[in-house]
Amino acid sequence: MTTVFDPVSGRSIEDVPDTPLAELDGILERGRKAGRGWATVAASERGRRLQRVAALLREHLDELAMLETRNTGRPLHNTRGESSRAAAAFEYYAGFADKVVGTTVPVGGGYHTYTLREPRGLALGIIPWNAPYVFAALKVAPALAFGNSLVLKPAQETPLTALRLAELVAEAGVDDDVLQVVTGGADVGAALTDDPRPDVIAFTGHHATGKAVAEAAARNLTPVSLELGGKSPQLIFADADLDAALDAVLLGIFGQTGQMCIAGSRIYVQRQVFDEFARRLRDRVMALRVGDPREDGVNVGPQTTARQRDKTLAMIDAGVASGATIAAQAPVPDDPALRNGYFTPPTVFTDVDPRMPIMAEEIFGPVACLAPFTDDEDALRLAHETDFGLAAGVWTADVGRAHRLARDLRVGTVWINTYRVLSVGVPFGGVALSGYGREGGEAAIDLYTQVKSVWTSLTPGMPPGYRL
Ligand code: NAD
Repeated sequence: MTTVFDPVSGRSIEDVPDTPLAELDGILERGRKAGRGWATVAASERGRRLQRVAALLREHLDELAMLETRNTGRPLHNTRGESSRAAAAFEYYAGFADKVVGTTVPVGGGYHTYTLREPRGLALGIIPWNAPYVFAALKVAPALAFGNSLVLKPAQETPLTALRLAELVAEAGVDDDVLQVVTGGADVGAALTDDPRPDVIAFTGHHATGKAVAEAAARNLTPVSLELGGKSPQLIFADADLDAALDAVLLGIFGQTGQMCIAGSRIYVQRQVFDEFARRLRDRVMALRVGDPREDGVNVGPQTTARQRDKTLAMIDAGVASGATIAAQAPVPDDPALRNGYFTPPTVFTDVDPRMPIMAEEIFGPVACLAPFTDDEDALRLAHETDFGLAAGVWTADVGRAHRLARDLRVGTVWINTYRVLSVGVPFGGVALSGYGREGGEAAIDLYTQVKSVWTSLTPGMPPGYRL
């Protein structure tokens, strides 16, 4: 049994039973069987059922957003936006279901040769606690659209929206066991990834867990995609629209209380405008309202778990101990009703260097490091002073420079004069310690389907040169 907590008050919401390890065998068997049946449902019919899921998700949009906010502590405006994105994922892949096609290959020589795009079979999706509803949707929608069954394991701390999603998927008429949600923690996740039955694993989470998942997948030769963490840079040049860059910097590190894989946690500003930017950023940080995420006007909620709050506070202490300077820190609420909530102060450090833990490690909290750079080359060098490669922001009015950097940055996503905008139609993933494989858009076809080649002779007998 796992107690699920409300991060605003620190009080329990409910107890959710963990799936017993002994039940996983039956779950995987049923998933496999259901997958075989689901693959034979006409792709257009699969699409229609997923459209029904999307309609139900839109009908229940506010309920799901509120549930997500209760469980994660993220502001309602944010979880409403994500609820809409979750429904959009179903709409997008519902439309895609019957448009994934094979090809004919003109090999000549008396052959009709073609490829089939087949579902992989049983998919396993494992997701973290920071945005559980939209991550669940981004795994369920493409896996099912392309004819797979899915066993989905949300994080132990935040299972509520994934469980509700599964109810709505069933209500929309998707066959039993095509989607099964299992609950529990690392032991359940490890048991599932150790099992040879999943035909593909789509994992989102921490890079250390990602390595364990990759090792388990390698033992079974199971294909796997890994969406891991990041330490993403924002590069702000002197010719940039500084107002827009400031907005994006705030959203990029304090949105979702910094609990984003794509958090823009390293902010590099060209020296000519560094002091001005630092002063304006300080003013904006001091004006942030940290509080109950259900209230209008609150910019930053609590962290999702007490453990993550403690980790962030320890990283802030480590930053100070290593000689960095706190340039700005917003106050946490002093309301007695919020005293036991998991609040951490939005913080910006300066006087940082790459060896400091606050610069090298993913914090997953509202903590940014601010440093100057001189020119394009220096910006690129600093951007690459990390083991991660998930995303980067480039702020400049110079189109040539923007695209040169987009070409040269070793990351999975580059935002030019914007940040953190996402769409289900755009592939997403990282390089290096941020993982491999892509989800979203057409990239999901490669993840959730495989190619079979079929050769047919148009003439009798084996051709010359093909006889012993
Ligand atoms: P985590 O890796 O601890 O847990 C993620 C999931 O893996 C959970 O469901 C957990 O129960 C499960 N798990 C734990 N140990 C496992 C094991 N040995 N085998 C299989 N499954 C196991 O991550 P977290 O702390 O929940 O989430 C935060 C991390 O996720 C951050 O690093 C963040 O950057 C990353 N993340 C990445 C993306 C992305 O798309 N790139 C998006 C969101 C979060």
